[in-house]
Amino acid sequence: SEFSNEYPTHDPGWVQEMHANHYLQSWSKQGRKPPVITGAEGSWFWDSTGKRYLDFQSQLVNANLGHQHPKIVQAIKDQADKLCYIGPAMGSDVRSELAALMTEITPEPITSTFFTTGGSAANELAIRLARHYTGRSKIIARYRSYHGATGGTLSLTGDPRRHLTRGDMPGVVRMLDPYCYRCPMGHTDSANCPVSQGGPHLEELLMYENPQTVAAVILEPIVGTNGILVPPDGYLQSIRETCDRHGILLIFDEVMAGFGRTGKWFACDHWDVAPDILSSAKGINSGYVPLGTMSVSKTLADWLKDYPLPGGLTYAGHPLACASGVAAIRAMQEEGTLAKATASGEYLRSELAKLADKHPCIGDIRGKGMFNAIELVKNRDTREMLVPFAAKEDAAAPMSEMMKFAMNEGLYLSFFSNCIRLTPPLNISREDLDLGLEILDRTLEIAD
Ligand code: PLP
Repeated sequence: SEFSNEYPTHDPGWVQEMHANHYLQSWSKQGRKPPVITGAEGSWFWDSTGKRYLDFQSQLVNANLGHQHPKIVQAIKDQADKLCYIGPAMGSDVRSELAALMTEITPEPITSTFFTTGGSAANELAIRLARHYTGRSKIIARYRSYHGATGGTLSLTGDPRRHLTRGDMPGVVRMLDPYCYRCPMGHTDSANCPVSQGGPHLEELLMYENPQTVAAVILEPIVGTNGILVPPDGYLQSIRETCDRHGILLIFDEVMAGFGRTGKWFACDHWDVAPDILSSAKGINSGYVPLGTMSVSKTLADWLKDYPLPGGLTYAGHPLACASGVAAIRAMQEEGTLAKATASGEYLRSELAKLADKHPCIGDIRGKGMFNAIELVKNRDTREMLVPFAAKEDAAAPMSEMMKFAMNEGLYLSFFSNCIRLTPPLNISREDLDLGLEILDRTLEIAD
């Protein structure tokens, strides 16, 4: 087919065989034989049979500028010609350039950045730094969260994947989420709910925990994997003020929501609330080379002039990663990507509202920019879940059937629990957006 190319050099059957028997895949039972992907461009990727898929997930919500963006690809090639690797303590133009760009686009108190290999490593260092700086040990995290797959970050993670492990990091205290569609307190009005106001719920936890023992609160300003939960106005501000009253650091995990995904550089910009530590990854370079960041406020940066950074990585500030980050951020600035994400997101949600008129299985539509989800229900009035929380195998059958149907129709969609996440590339064309919505329309018939 016209979409096939020379890669892979092996027979696709052999590639699948090796994948099933010798390659270990994240978070899954092994032995699968997925399609062999041979190429990608813009919002599309295709497999060895020539079948094309419209990427409504942006892979793991990281290919924010789509696939094979020419400016990022060129920057990686140019950097590879110049200097592939130099140790993290050396000066490097792309490292300094990316550090300066991060200072430019992050909220004002943030001045300095440590570059990691991804989001988990960024959050791992964030909590370690918070503990060193405050001399306290507890970290407050929420149930509907994903913070990473390393020892510390998986302990912070609330999502059911944490149950796959043994031996959590001590000192994690769990807080409820402002999940207003299914308010954990049974409220219908967020103004009267201590959880969705943020501060009052946190204050109560602190009363029991002793605030002097709490180093940090970590949260995703808009929850990603666990259902795209947008907090009510005032929530982040209220958490910020409560942290300040008790000398507790606030960490925003912007790994999924950052870099234009919500129509602003960072999700917290929607409410003008800044953290003490901001972690990011994914969209920083559209995922072309592993890269994450842990950025700190000037106060912490100044403290780090007297105390050593409690962590390091061989690949901290890897030149190929930094070059791709610089190119991606500049491309977003040049191409007006944030405005595009805002406009496409509004269009997407208005089209989803039309689908909700047709499909009784749509219980809720939520999101900001191109960070969206629909939550599916058996009954819209009672909000009975379509499948039980964290359902697997048979119990999750309607969701896996929809996933298979969409994939067969050439739409790559992301499913988690009762939600379908809609996170296409920020620069997807209107035509492709409409095509994806048309396939989604047919896919939802399975759940009605
Ligand atoms: N934090 C959030 C909010 C994420 O969505 C993810 C990954 O999905 C991570 C952290 C972990 O990032 P990584 O997989 O790059 O280690």
